[in-house]
Amino acid sequence: MHIGRTLPPAASPIYPQDIISGLRGLIRGQREIERFQDELREFFGVNHCFLLSSGKAALTIILQALKDIHPNRDEVLIPAFTCYSVPSAIVRAGLKVKLCDINADTLDFDFDQLSKILSQYSQPNKTDKLNKPNKPNEPYELSAKNYELSSCSPLLAIIPTHLFGLTADINRLRELIDDPEVFIVEDAAQVMGGEWNGITLGTLGDVGFFSLGRGKALSTVEGGIILTNRNDIAERIVSQISILSGYGFFGLMELFLKAISLAIFLHPTFFWFPKILHFLKLGETIYDPYFKIKKMSLFQAGLAMNWQNKLRRFKDIRAKCSKQWSTFIKNLNNCQLSSISYQPNSNIIRFPVKLNNGALKSKLLGNNKHINFGIMPSYPDSISSIEELSSSFQDIDFPVAKEIAQQFITLPTHPFVSNSDKTRITNFILKIIAP
Ligand SMILES: *Cc1c(COP(=O)(O)O)cnc(C)c1O
Repeated sequence: MHIGRTLPPAASPIYPQDIISGLRGLIRGQREIERFQDELREFFGVNHCFLLSSGKAALTIILQALKDIHPNRDEVLIPAFTCYSVPSAIVRAGLKVKLCDINADTLDFDFDQLSKILSQYSQPNKTDKLNKPNKPNEPYELSAKNYELSSCSPLLAIIPTHLFGLTADINRLRELIDDPEVFIVEDAAQVMGGEWNGITLGTLGDVGFFSLGRGKALSTVEGGIILTNRNDIAERIVSQISILSGYGFFGLMELFLKAISLAIFLHPTFFWFPKILHFLKLGETIYDPYFKIKKMSLFQAGLAMNWQNKLRRFKDIRAKCSKQWSTFIKNLNNCQLSSISYQPNSNIIRFPVKLNNGALKSKLLGNNKHINFGIMPSYPDSISSIEELSSSFQDIDFPVAKEIAQQFITLPTHPFVSNSDKTRITNFILKIIAP
């Protein structure tokens, strides 16, 4: 294992002064949470904002609130290529995961397939084609019967996702859905601060959420934000949240120690160390529905003091870096590598590069050198291949999602990437693609 300068694949710096404001937050009490909520509501121009322990906790609370509104609906449709936390949250909320393949050029839904799936939802007797029950031992006749009894579609929500800062086309999605009861939950976990045609992402769906996890656009060690303008959804979320507990003493200690570790070890000079120790579960993508769901702590709200300046600064840095990667890949003019075009003003936390050649991928990721450069594969496989879920998708293929999981790597864009890192990374890639 190499010891020396190592870039994280994605990072949002936490500074010592943030940790001091975190501790001040503990002293300021509930006002700290209200301050953060007020600032978020104003910045994003929404009526309601809620703060939780993570993005997946936020999504679970959203889904439970939606289920409260439509108790006879239990299916949630997501892209077949996304973060494993998304199906984890759906299962945690007691709902069923349904998948739609993605488009290789946009990483958004494959809209042809999506419209087919949606039309099957509106013709109840055909729903068994693409949508089998999640648990194999649950007789499908039963759910079909329930479905007739309730005389409505089982589809509760669709989760369009802005992956790697690429914008999902939510207007197009809205036009396609003719059942007005289906909710659009905007997964803006990775793109806090990103915009689309002047509209801030996270506010395009009926309800949206951000993650404040370690590798996201902004970080409070862990954390999740829910935004919505809909009073009916907000009301249910309030009652969901009212029964949650906050962080206890040991939970707060853990947050505090993680904040200090991140302030030190995210820095490329020290990042090899947690890599060696497999510390903080860095770089893992796991399916696990048994995560904690808590209200955000005063410490995290305090850590987020000055978030607007940080977010703006990080976004500018990432935008500049993404542009450089984009130009570099374009100028290579090599058919083995390509990048995806993205909206101006997006917030790209990892720059995705498509490799059209498996041999090239093994060369790039073959020895451990890529780790030092923060070059990483994206999610390991399609959601349909997650072992715990795969039985529900046995007869259905999601070829694009599988292909994308195989083909994509990401380059780092975060504030720790220095100019000499960029030179080293370009030289590394040039050397590997050299004939
Ligand atoms: C990170 C992420 C989540 C979950 O957020 P956590 O804070 O890690 O729980 C959900 N969706 C996407 C697309 C993500 O990248």
